Amino acid sequence: MKKGKHKRKKEEQVFQTPEKILVGDFVQVRELAEMMGKGTGEIVKKLMELGIMATINQEIDFETVEILGSLFDIAVERELSQEEQILEEIIDTPESLVPRPPIVTVMGHVDHGKTSLLDKIRHADVVSSEAGGITQHIGAYQIKMDNGKSITFIDTPGHEAFTAMRARGANLTDIVVLVVAADDGVMPQTIEAINHIKAAKVPFLVALNKMDKPDVNPDKVMQQLTEYNIVPEEWGGETMFIPVSAKTGMGIENLLDMTALLAEMQELKANPNRPAEGVVIEAQLDKGKGAVATVLVQKGTLKIGDSIVCGFTWCKVRAMTDFRGRRVDLAYSSMPIEITGWSEVPEVGEKVVVTDEKIAKEIAGLRLSEKKLEDQKQSSRISLDDFFKQMQSTGIKELNLIIKGDVGGSIEALAQSLLRLSTNEVKVNVIHSAVGAVTETDVMLASASNAIIIGFNVRPDIKARKYGEEENIDIRMYRVIYEAIDDVKKAMEGLLEPEYREKYLGRAEVRQTFKVPNVGTVAGSYIIDGKMQRNADIRVLRDSVIIHQGKLNSLKRFKDDVKEVMEGYECGMGVRDFNDLKEGDIIEAYTMEEIARSL
Ligand code: GDP
Repeated sequence: MKKGKHKRKKEEQVFQTPEKILVGDFVQVRELAEMMGKGTGEIVKKLMELGIMATINQEIDFETVEILGSLFDIAVERELSQEEQILEEIIDTPESLVPRPPIVTVMGHVDHGKTSLLDKIRHADVVSSEAGGITQHIGAYQIKMDNGKSITFIDTPGHEAFTAMRARGANLTDIVVLVVAADDGVMPQTIEAINHIKAAKVPFLVALNKMDKPDVNPDKVMQQLTEYNIVPEEWGGETMFIPVSAKTGMGIENLLDMTALLAEMQELKANPNRPAEGVVIEAQLDKGKGAVATVLVQKGTLKIGDSIVCGFTWCKVRAMTDFRGRRVDLAYSSMPIEITGWSEVPEVGEKVVVTDEKIAKEIAGLRLSEKKLEDQKQSSRISLDDFFKQMQSTGIKELNLIIKGDVGGSIEALAQSLLRLSTNEVKVNVIHSAVGAVTETDVMLASASNAIIIGFNVRPDIKARKYGEEENIDIRMYRVIYEAIDDVKKAMEGLLEPEYREKYLGRAEVRQTFKVPNVGTVAGSYIIDGKMQRNADIRVLRDSVIIHQGKLNSLKRFKDDVKEVMEGYECGMGVRDFNDLKEGDIIEAYTMEEIARSL
């Protein structure tokens, strides 16, 4: 009795239907059956009723699972992605927020004085008079005003950088200073800048520059700008116009005060007591320091020892340098700092998130494998145009390359030259190219896509070298572009289908045939020309017609197996899978020789 009860209970457990299941974007039918506590047959049948023919090993999408769920009375919820699960978003409470300095970008037409203005502002910094000054160039700097307030300026003027950041989802800029030369007025790039500012919905003020010049006409500039719905405050509009001179320094202090005022109106705040988040505003490979990036902290406080993940790269923060070139232990919101120790050069505009070291590595790896999957999907997504091309070139061979280099320009040049090596027979693909040393992730990619890695003026790091050896990845280092091209050309020659040429060895005439039990026909023959070789290819000729083509089974001199028999000697031969040898047949021996090809 007890036993039976126990058994039933067990069965109930196996087929227990849950109230709710968590499913990702896709799930295998077999797995789903298990999750739903149903038999696979039952699921397959229901799918068929829905008009979906799926085997138990096939995957069905979330929407289909939802429909199945409703039929079985099981709630279906979407599972968070691995990254979403690992990297929890921190929600800041309003009480945790404190004011932070504004982040300012300077825009305007070329030669209207953006660079000069940024220079002058740098010198207006009260701390500059103290030791150091702002000497380091790290893409952004922060000034402190007399009233103790700070403003962060992004040091790359122009709207390209601004828009590139926005394209990556990094809305870094709190305020834009639109520079218009009062002697020149609204110009094409002024209009472009206005469009970018409006698209980003960022508050801005106008700096009427070059006011020291005799021929200026600020009213004309104001008038011109009204055409773009930019109306000065004194004319009843909302935009502040500040007359300045980047040459004499006139009005700079006022410009800073007004910028601070505009910032105050924004009530810019951040929570300092949380793991930091920020954005990469500059990144490069430094000969001495390795991968270096300037990060602008947006939230929280970045500390020495923090681990950060940024795109596919991660970094353990060992040292931070501020815009004055001084080492700092803490970086607060709106503070630009230079960080070294990255696993790879991160990309500009990429989000930086502080997390546990293990998680940082895990997420970087996760993103990379997701990218790989995505890339694979993309390559299988084929347009009709491509399909036709592929059909035409069936049998195409591909040479996949990964190019790493010290400077973007030389990578581009090398990639272009290599791509030009493509022929009808071999296609060159550059599957990845980036600034930086050859890293472990490059080797992973090479291994996954059967690629050769080319390093130009860079070396692989120790891990990459080791991993590359393990995976048998060809990692080639060059200092001269031509050498790289030459080598790839050779590699392509190796890849080409080798061309074979027949090499004649000799002929034997069958004089007598014997039937040998368990062996077949053996021909007593005489070598009439050249030689016979045991491993050679042969053809049997009768009246000059090929009646068989294949291999020898045996080659004997008297009773001994031999490798070859020369002209003028007698031998016994058996032909593999051919017993129809007759007196007078000619056995011709030959080999196929490979000819190295050049393109
Ligand atoms: P950008 O292209 O907008 O960065 O402009 P620059 O800062 O390079 O300035 C262009 C030219 O205008 C340079 O020759 C500057 O010396 C000059 N310039 C910039 N600001 C002023 C100014 O306030 N007054 C005068 N007279 N010349 C200026």
